[in-house]
Amino acid sequence: MEKYKLAFYWASSCGGCEVAVLDIHENILKVIEIADIVFWPVALDFKYKDVEAMEDNYIDVCFFNGAIRLSEQEHLAHLLRRKSKIMIAFGACSCFGGIPGLANFFYRDEVMNRAYLETPSTVNPEKTLPQEVTKMPEGEITIPEFYETVHTLAQTVKVEYFVPGCPPVPDQIMTLVEALIKKELPPEGTVIAENKTLCDTCERLREEKVVPEFKRIVDVIPDNKKCFLEEGIICCGPATRSGCGNRCINANQPCRGCFGPAPEIDDHGAKLLSAIASISSINEEERVAEFVNSIPDPAGYFYRFTVAQSMLKRKLIKEEKK
Ligand code: SF4
Ligand code: SF4
Ligand code: SF4
Repeated sequence: MEKYKLAFYWASSCGGCEVAVLDIHENILKVIEIADIVFWPVALDFKYKDVEAMEDNYIDVCFFNGAIRLSEQEHLAHLLRRKSKIMIAFGACSCFGGIPGLANFFYRDEVMNRAYLETPSTVNPEKTLPQEVTKMPEGEITIPEFYETVHTLAQTVKVEYFVPGCPPVPDQIMTLVEALIKKELPPEGTVIAENKTLCDTCERLREEKVVPEFKRIVDVIPDNKKCFLEEGIICCGPATRSGCGNRCINANQPCRGCFGPAPEIDDHGAKLLSAIASISSINEEERVAEFVNSIPDPAGYFYRFTVAQSMLKRKLIKEEKK
């Protein structure tokens, strides 16, 4: 059997998804049996010109992790798309914008000022900010453009499969490997996870209790048998796709939503907001603000991994900021 040619690329991400590939442990031997890696900048010294020199569709499967924030990442997404038969959005950042997508709640200038001028550890008396072009005696040095908005991979190029998770779990990777071995790939657009909500697979005790306020997980020791929401701790299970093996719940931590919206849910955050509102025990209008204020960062909680993919997409862009 001719071996598959695999590529891995790391765009706007923390790199955890690259490491997650190695979580399959000895199953890596199965991968080596069926595939050669032809591009993996984080691990092997490939250059962009090596990819440019490949014929179109030379790569069988490209695992692309990370969101699109820089012009370089956008360029590589288009280049790898052209060179690959199958493009996989690998991990929450690539599927939904992920944690880097939270920057869509701010303007580019705010992000730059925070990073280069305002943080307590920054020493920058000349207030120097990164420039796309810097003239030097030897010539011009360029760096990629930092876009106003973080995009998902599918907002940038066509994607065949989505592997959510922060990072994805080994079972998802092995599902794909087995599908390649058997040459039985799922239909295009498939999300490699389960088609239920996390709550559907969670065995914690639910009594349909309502709560008067929410508490932060750092301020309480949760009961390891009871539903977090009913204990007044925000858990994203009602709107989140299952398939992670309930790894946070089993570690007595609430779900933060890294598998993204469950099937039939268009907007992860809106669905979570509605689930949270439905368990409020507050009926008096004047106490609603009290209930809402007990959630320290509602947008960050409800859209932690999915701002870029949501109906909101980002903070409003004023005309002059285009
Ligand atoms: S999905 Fe999570 S682990 Fe993967 S790159 Fe994004 S932040 Fe890192
Ligand atoms: S809200 Fe969280 S703890 Fe409660 S049932 Fe759903 S997944 Fe389980
Ligand atoms: S429990 Fe939630 S946050 Fe934790 S891994 Fe599963 S989907 Fe992600």
